[in-house]
Amino acid sequence: MTDAPVRIESFESLADGCAATLFVSSPSFMRTSSVPGLADAILEALPGLVRHPCECGSAHGIAAELADTETPHLVEHIALELLAVSGIPRRELHGRTTWDFARDGAGVFHVSLHGAPPEACAKALGQATALVVGHM
Ligand SMILES: [Zn+2]
Repeated sequence: MTDAPVRIESFESLADGCAATLFVSSPSFMRTSSVPGLADAILEALPGLVRHPCECGSAHGIAAELADTETPHLVEHIALELLAVSGIPRRELHGRTTWDFARDGAGVFHVSLHGAPPEACAKALGQATALVVGHM
C-alpha cells in the first residue's frame, strides 16, 4: 500500500510502547474534517473513543476534536482504543501525536503509544491506519 493516503513509514519499539512515523501523502487527507463522515463512522465502530482524555483536547470534547484534527491524531486515538478493547487497562494507555513540517517535510507525523507491549502497539497502529484509509 505504498500509495495509501496515510501510511506508516517507520516503526520503533520503546520500552513501554512504540514510536512511529506516519506519512499523509496528500494535503486533502491531512485533517479528518476533509473526509466527510470519517469521524462519525469511526466513533460508531469504536464507541469507547468518546471517553478518551486528550491533552490537545477541544473545548467541545473529544468527539468534536476527532472530527476536526490531524488525521494521524485520529489514528493515535483509534490505536489506543483498539489496545483498550484488547484488554490493556485504559489508565495505563496514553499517546501523543506531534509534527514539525518545517523540519521533517509536509505530511510527516510522529505518533507514539505508551502502556502496551511494542508488538501490540504495532498491530493496533497498523489496524488503526487501515481503518482510517478504508474510510477515505
Ligand atoms: Zn489526543
